Amino acid sequence: MALADITHAIADAEEKAGRRPGSVKLIAVSKVQPEDRVTGVLDEGHRLFGENRVQEAASRWPSLQTRYTDISLHLIGPLQTNKARQAVEMFDAIHTLDRPKLARRLADLAQERGACPELLIQVNTGEEPQKAGVLPSDADAFVAEARALDLPVTGLMCIPPIDEEPSLHFALLAKIAERTGLTELSMGMSADFERAIAFGATYVRVGSAIFGARVQPQG
Ligand SMILES: *Cc1c(COP(=O)(O)O)cnc(C)c1O
Repeated sequence: MALADITHAIADAEEKAGRRPGSVKLIAVSKVQPEDRVTGVLDEGHRLFGENRVQEAASRWPSLQTRYTDISLHLIGPLQTNKARQAVEMFDAIHTLDRPKLARRLADLAQERGACPELLIQVNTGEEPQKAGVLPSDADAFVAEARALDLPVTGLMCIPPIDEEPSLHFALLAKIAERTGLTELSMGMSADFERAIAFGATYVRVGSAIFGARVQPQG
């Protein structure tokens, strides 16, 4: 599938779910993809991209940003505290706020710079030990903590366990967002973005279905 097919599938899923047309934003996940595939999608007019590593984004995007205007970059992978400054300088949104130490670092940077990217809190809905994100039972307290630091938290993000029905995880994330008054839901990837839209996704993160299989797999 290519960009136009995904865009149509999103519009169909919005309609089926009774959602407002255009209420779902498509993040084209360009990690590891060769540059010609990325410029192909840029040439089609798409401007919202996701990367999961700060370093890789830093080596790819500055030169593309001199050739294409209005690019919006979202970080969808884990953020180490020592890369926070580079991340806030480069990204328009960070979907992976997941611990108090990072929240405090981002708050310090926001104060210093007078600006902060949009932030989403990653929730480990499957409670997987190896996966990042706050536990569902800690989510409400962490949202409050981030708000107390004046961080611009707009929503929640999850990556369901690979071998489980994702709908349960999408529903759980939507429920936590509702009770904490957050409006953005970052959920759904190539295999399940239509289901995520049915459960209220406002950001879907789609990589291989737009660009083709990643040449070298990356976590
Ligand atoms: C790679 C990645 C995606 C995109 O995955 P596809 O299955 O290629 O669509 C989405 N979200 C995160 C966090 C990712 O790391």
